Amino acid sequence: MSIDVEDWYHCLSPDPATWPSFEHRIVESTRRVLEIFARTSTRATFFILGAVAEREPGLVEEIQKAGHEIASHGTEHRFVYRQTPEEFERDVRRSVETLRAITGETPRGYRAPYFSITLQSLWALDTLRNLGFAYDSSIHPVHNHRYGIPGAARLPHALPSGLIEAPISTLPLRLLNLPFAGGVYFRAFPMFLIRRCFRRLEARGERVVFYFHPWEIDEGQPRIPLPWSLRLRHYHALGPAGPKLEALCREFRFGTLSEVLNL
Ligand SMILES: [Zn+2]
Repeated sequence: MSIDVEDWYHCLSPDPATWPSFEHRIVESTRRVLEIFARTSTRATFFILGAVAEREPGLVEEIQKAGHEIASHGTEHRFVYRQTPEEFERDVRRSVETLRAITGETPRGYRAPYFSITLQSLWALDTLRNLGFAYDSSIHPVHNHRYGIPGAARLPHALPSGLIEAPISTLPLRLLNLPFAGGVYFRAFPMFLIRRCFRRLEARGERVVFYFHPWEIDEGQPRIPLPWSLRLRHYHALGPAGPKLEALCREFRFGTLSEVLNL
């Protein structure tokens, strides 16, 4: 189970200069996720955006005290493939230093904003290894207009550098890998279909790498003007998502990525 801890506007408004003007809702929405996990005895990896950690160090402490794994989601939520390797390294290093100063521990895992380690930015995996990460969970082996490597390996595996790659789970069908394990797919698909995908992977002896964001259960978040496709993806079915997440946590047993990867 993994949570990308970012506020509702971080993925909608890429310019950090705009962020102070938005209503900050990350503490409340993350606490709701923590409550769901406490009620269902679920442990998860929280990939925390550095911008959130710098603003709300107490929230990072709350997550750590609840027994979850703290990992990095970078600092400024920029697409990896739109940065130079130097900019990327600076952004990730800053997030590591921020998290270490709060938790006293070096994060072992990283997830890129927008899953944006793609064929154009595979160099980022070497940067992560050089920064000391044990694993990455940034590759979604699907086709999407903003991210994805459709033919990439579906299961966790070690790269030649020693870095473990733990892709987001997909259901392999004849023509494509079906995304289902989080985000808008989880919100849009009916629960019986989600459950069937989990059971199918379980029958193959696989474990599901699932992702979610605190804003996805925050129905009260402000609505801002967006292109229609982004508006649909972002605001779709926020209300039922909390109960769905809780039902999922009751039905299946989850752990942190470090646990599942035996790190
Ligand atoms: Zn993100």
